[in-house]
Amino acid sequence: MSDLMAQFRQELEELKKKYSIELPSKVQDIENGWKTYLEEPNAENITVLHRLVHTIKGSSATFGFDEVSKAAATLETLLKPWVKSESLPGEELVPEFQGLLKTLYIRARNVSLEDASVVAEPQPKPDEHELERRRKTQKPLIYLYEPNGKIAGDIVRQMASFSYRVESFTSLSDLVHACSIAPPSGFVVDFTGMSSERLPEITKDLLNPVCDVHGRKPLLVAVSNDDSFACRLAAVRAGAVDFFTLPLDIGNLVDSFERMIFYRDDDPFRILIIDDDEDLARHFELVLQGRGWLTKTLSNPMDVFLLLSEFRPDLILMDLYMPDVNGVELAAVIRQKEEYVSIPIVYLSIEDDLETQLEAVGPGADDFLNKGIHPEHLIVSVESRVLRYRELRRLMTRDSLTGLLNHTNLKMRLVMEMNRAVRQETKLAFAMIDLDHFKKVNDTYGHPTGDLVLKSVAKLLNQRLRRSDVIGRYGGEEFGVILLDVESADVVQSLLDELRVSFAEISHNVGDAHFNVTLSCGAAMFPEYSDPQSISDAADKALYKAKSHGRNRVVVV
Ligand code: GH3
Ligand code: MG
Ligand code: MG
Repeated sequence: MSDLMAQFRQELEELKKKYSIELPSKVQDIENGWKTYLEEPNAENITVLHRLVHTIKGSSATFGFDEVSKAAATLETLLKPWVKSESLPGEELVPEFQGLLKTLYIRARNVSLEDASVVAEPQPKPDEHELERRRKTQKPLIYLYEPNGKIAGDIVRQMASFSYRVESFTSLSDLVHACSIAPPSGFVVDFTGMSSERLPEITKDLLNPVCDVHGRKPLLVAVSNDDSFACRLAAVRAGAVDFFTLPLDIGNLVDSFERMIFYRDDDPFRILIIDDDEDLARHFELVLQGRGWLTKTLSNPMDVFLLLSEFRPDLILMDLYMPDVNGVELAAVIRQKEEYVSIPIVYLSIEDDLETQLEAVGPGADDFLNKGIHPEHLIVSVESRVLRYRELRRLMTRDSLTGLLNHTNLKMRLVMEMNRAVRQETKLAFAMIDLDHFKKVNDTYGHPTGDLVLKSVAKLLNQRLRRSDVIGRYGGEEFGVILLDVESADVVQSLLDELRVSFAEISHNVGDAHFNVTLSCGAAMFPEYSDPQSISDAADKALYKAKSHGRNRVVVV
């Protein structure tokens, strides 16, 4: 067991133990509530009593004390009709309630740590620096399996200009052998003319769990000259994650790999947990962190917007019943802001009344998960929602050609990052990059080739800049970059110069022709320029200066 995992487990065990020690006093609270109700039988007191019972039902399920949760559930069933109606229970309730309360007491006292909930195996957090190093130094390896040997030449050459290594195979046994020596990041399989039964036979061997240098399972992309539904279905059944028809659009193929390899989950999921019970919130944090995800908890709902904009969660797990603001209200407030209309909100509650569930989900949330959910199931549920949300967000906020942030979202991030830099007293740079004489590239080689050049800029920026830096397509052949936490203008100058030189060295190929393109760049520094408008104006002016001084240069102000 890794140290990290042992640490997670230990903390979870400690939380659970703490909870079990506190349980009898929580049941005592119920008893006190019950006495208060008997002295003053009114609607308010029965509501308080119900809330206490409901809370224990949920929290004990979370910590794996199922017998306690069941006893509380029986008590809740007894109270529920009275909470919902105008009338109050009479004497007939007393003996039954007291009997059930006693059962709850006994179970709370007897909780043993043996029936511990199984915690998901925490996976060690990926080492950011190591990932970054690998991303930069390793060209993704792709194996092409093509029995007919017709498309290989084109794919190998064109993908090489996007920094992919492609090796082609016409023999399946050679391919399988190559996988055992150097597992690839992905496969392209041409199954033109193959029967649909044959494809799964082939891919079964390929998709065995070998992992590439990024520690991931390989991706399978199918290509065929047959665009029928049956053919696409066969590809899906064989495990393909994407499908292309021939003649192949290499740009789209590269896009598909880029998206899956570089936008995939090495950017850990971010989950915001909102629960007024700190121990419960901590429990869910540990379970999710154990999977390598980032979490934040919110105890004061008033701070929700600050956390949403800073932490940028992929999903919100929210308790339904909280004392000051309940989950339904909080979800509705969050949804009022346009930028959060699509973020998944999932209630964590022990509520098993279907009608209440539907009422709560209606206005702002996506689903209900039961507080007693097994940690593994929690992870699976969260994961599928986050993946869908990320895909949706990518479509909404990213430029479709380059996959970079679009203009609006780049500007939004600039505002955010400048606010953060003020608070954290760090420096940042905003750079604008514009391709030189790009019109000529289009005129000479055609617009589609121009598009490939634009993609190559995006790819270079993605590869060379830090994960934390923000990269966008400002418009046309102009790109905007926010470099975070930079030391000085000199460092920015040399970093951008390196980028400029690397880009100029890239040889773009069309047919037999090769050409190079250069770029000019203007950048401005924060705090020298202290608001988003003045920093972008300054960067724009610096870019103009770079152009007028002969292009293929960087000016930092
Ligand atoms: P300069 O060095 O002064 O920047 O010259 P330039 O030719 O790059 O600048 P200009 O602004 O005159 O032309 C920009 C060109 O970029 C014109 C336009 O067709 C091209 N462009 C803009 N967006 C796209 C795009 O999405 N794809 C392609 N292929 N070309 C684009
Ligand atoms: Mg230009
Ligand atoms: Mg321009």
